[in-house]
Amino acid sequence: MKQIAIIGGGISGLSTAYYLNKFLKAKKIDAQIHIFEKETNLGGNITTLNKNGFIIEGGPDCFISEKPWALKLCRELGIGAEVVGTNEENKKTFILVNKKLIEMPEGLMLMIPTKIKPFLETPLFSLPGKIRMGMDLFIPAKKDGSDETLGSFVRRRLGQEALDKIAEPLVAGIHAGNPETMSLKNTFPRFLEMEQKYGSLIKGMIARMDEAKKFTKKPETGEPKLTLFMTLKEGLIELIDTLKLNLLDNTKIMIKNNALSINKITNGDKISYEIKTDVFTMKDIDTVILTTPAYAAAELVKNLDNELSSILSNFPYVSAATVSVGFKRKDIKHPLHGFGFLVPKTERRKIMATTWTSSKFSHRCDKDYVLLRGFLGGAANEKMADLEEKELIETVLSEWNAIMGISAEPVIQKAYRWKKGMPQYVIGHETTVEKIEKLAANHPGLIFNGNYLRGVGIADCIHNSELTAQKIAETMGN
Ligand SMILES: Cc1cc2nc3c(=O)[nH]c(=O)nc-3n(C[C@H](O)[C@H](O)[C@H](O)COP(=O)(O)OP(=O)(O)OC[C@H]3O[C@@H](n4cnc5c(N)ncnc54)[C@H](O)[C@@H]3O)c2cc1C
Repeated sequence: MKQIAIIGGGISGLSTAYYLNKFLKAKKIDAQIHIFEKETNLGGNITTLNKNGFIIEGGPDCFISEKPWALKLCRELGIGAEVVGTNEENKKTFILVNKKLIEMPEGLMLMIPTKIKPFLETPLFSLPGKIRMGMDLFIPAKKDGSDETLGSFVRRRLGQEALDKIAEPLVAGIHAGNPETMSLKNTFPRFLEMEQKYGSLIKGMIARMDEAKKFTKKPETGEPKLTLFMTLKEGLIELIDTLKLNLLDNTKIMIKNNALSINKITNGDKISYEIKTDVFTMKDIDTVILTTPAYAAAELVKNLDNELSSILSNFPYVSAATVSVGFKRKDIKHPLHGFGFLVPKTERRKIMATTWTSSKFSHRCDKDYVLLRGFLGGAANEKMADLEEKELIETVLSEWNAIMGISAEPVIQKAYRWKKGMPQYVIGHETTVEKIEKLAANHPGLIFNGNYLRGVGIADCIHNSELTAQKIAETMGN
């Protein structure tokens, strides 16, 4: 019987185990799967606190439906009806400009204007800024198709004002990243495609929206309307709990098992691995799948491959923090009609974004209460993630008071720190991934499947886990 070890019990580890169960069973391959997780809880970045009627997400709070794999997995696991979309009547996002929250104009998709009237009327951009953005229609496409930073791309096509007011706060909100180092090809590949295919982001985005209308899949019976961001009624932890329940008997989860090192044992033609944890040593493993962050994988393979370990340990990450606070609805004067707001770096504030969680999603708290979530840290202000929980909460409350005039007494509050929580896909990312895979190929059966390789979002993690499991099952079946 084959022995497979998965290190890490986050969404990548658990979905790899789930798909391995599925593909190995189909190929009638007997295997024992062992999942090692150092913490008491499974889920990794996915952590939901369900307390006093509030559903608080510490890490991710949704997945995107444009990439179908998370939704597909929920359906396969029988929780399709638990998936909920955003409250479209509140579909507005605000940007803090000169200390005021200004609504993003209708039709501004990511940072690209697609509707003329609201774009011309918005006070968000200056007249020269609008003219510069419109020049996207005439600026020729870059010919060589080479990678560039997101900052350089946006400046080239849409101008500095679009970068400062939209692109920078948007990527800070999604990746906690710095547009001046982020690889366009690896973070927003569609922008590059649009430029190459249509010669303009505006033309490309309009064409894409027309295409999307034709192909938008209808939700299955009993499921809500699909919106760009989807979540689960009881929080994303429902996906983790359901995955766990759906694992087959041949899969053993070992929590509070901190993997310390992996050793390769060569016996004639046969290669196997040995995993030492802080609890025990497991020998005779045929396949090891590492789903931990890169810096944790670096420690694990130190004895095995110094060069690989060094590349993994140098992979760039940034730190961030989230602070969720609940209030009585009657204590908050602000209407909170929207999904929240983004804060450009040029505003020089401590907070980088706020989600009006209970306006964006239903089921997050009772209607007499509201739930808000602030984001701190990121590439522009990483030190914030070092603050103690109390200081993080105080900072967020003081920022909300200054920006939204909120001075009410919280009824619940919780902060989460994410030290090196966000992998950064910087220029040269593809070369780094190629190097990792080339070196890993020297160790048959050693496989890397982390969110630092081919997509950070939950949907990408699930997709890459399915592909990884499929490849392993095919190799074992031969
Ligand atoms: C604040 C925040 C907000 C985010 N928001 C979104 C969002 O809204 N939508 C979205 O799609 N994505 C979002 N993301 C990204 C997404 O959450 C992650 O990319 C994804 O959850 C990563 O899952 P993973 O299983 O690959 O890694 P992880 O979740 O990091 O899991 C790795 C696991 O390995 C364990 N581990 C580490 N070292 C060892 C060891 N030596 N031995 C045993 N176990 C070990 C860890 O304890 C952990 O459980 C967000 C991320 C953060 C931090």
